[in-house]
Amino acid sequence: MKKKMKFNTRAIHGGQILDPAYGSVMTPIYQTSTYAQSSPGKHKGYEYSRTHNPTRTNFERAMASIENAEYGLAFSSGLAAIDAIIKTLSPGDEIISTNDLYGGSYRLFMQIFEKYQLKFHFVNMEDLTSVKEKINSNTKLIWVETPTNPMMNVVDIKTMSFLAKKNNILLCVDNTFATPYIQRPIDLGADIVMHSATKYIAGHSDVVIGAIVLNDENLHKKLSFIQNASGATPGPMDCFLALRGIKTLHLRMQRHSENAEKIAIFLRENKKIADVYWAGFKDHKNYDIAKKQMNGFGGMVSFIPVDNKFETSKKIAENLKLFTLAESLGGVESLCCHPASMTHASIPVEERKKSGLVESLLRLSVGIEDVEDLIDDLSNAIG
Ligand SMILES: *Cc1c(COP(=O)(O)O)cnc(C)c1O
Repeated sequence: MKKKMKFNTRAIHGGQILDPAYGSVMTPIYQTSTYAQSSPGKHKGYEYSRTHNPTRTNFERAMASIENAEYGLAFSSGLAAIDAIIKTLSPGDEIISTNDLYGGSYRLFMQIFEKYQLKFHFVNMEDLTSVKEKINSNTKLIWVETPTNPMMNVVDIKTMSFLAKKNNILLCVDNTFATPYIQRPIDLGADIVMHSATKYIAGHSDVVIGAIVLNDENLHKKLSFIQNASGATPGPMDCFLALRGIKTLHLRMQRHSENAEKIAIFLRENKKIADVYWAGFKDHKNYDIAKKQMNGFGGMVSFIPVDNKFETSKKIAENLKLFTLAESLGGVESLCCHPASMTHASIPVEERKKSGLVESLLRLSVGIEDVEDLIDDLSNAIG
């Protein structure tokens, strides 16, 4: 049944277990840490909420369903999900990652996991040879973020999955930016999909939560063990909010994409703006791949003012009224972010420069307001 339903139907019904207690149509928030047993070891499938919780189960099943995967696992944040994935590796293992990557992922890799003798290589993944060059017998994982943050480069997931399979390496895709409405990495050959569900999945900037989905039974067992043993699990209220978010994911993503397209075009036509980064431009260097693997181009747009000065970007950010200057992305409301001082501050300047992340770059998370109002706001702020 699950595989036959289309995406919008799955967003609402996929994987859902109807409440067995009272038939509650919406998943109840099981705000409990523990569950009654009728006799020692005899229970209804739930013993302790770090291990399992019925609200979390429905969220995990919904995530698996919309990503077209067998298994879903929820974590207390996107970074906790990444942390669990990296913990499946052993000292000496090597990981090849996208160089233009969420700052928190970079910080976790370099400042936590390098201490445990894991080795990370950051490469430009648009160029497959630069990935091939780093592969050796210790390489166990390829970490892809696409579209990249904040430069909006697009990595070809299918090609990457061929390369990974040929070399017996796992491929994980951070699908936070695109969401499964726009791209489904499992269908394109990825082994693991990771989400900061804090962003578009939950979609209302009111919860921090993460998720992993995958098909492989053994790997699921390993990750499920880590989820319980390390204990970075979300509470039932957070699972409820993220689950509710999923039910409108398709509607929101459609509007985010439409609004972002209009804003990208407006910025490109504005004489005070130099470069605009959005994968939907026909002359974007990865347009062909984007068109092939994505359904729409998402709600994220980055740009640089024509004088390339931080002072100018600072003024724009301060002048915006509807766009809130804040970290994060993916909520119904529009946000503006200065990656160099905010989301990407934990990446050294030299590393940032390599991927083109200059000090004057601003990143927009385009919300689902009326786009005319958003364009007015940008137009006034740019001056
Ligand atoms: C926010 C984000 C993360 C981290 O997720 P949290 O929920 O903040 O821990 C990872 N990857 C991407 C692309 C993100 O935007």
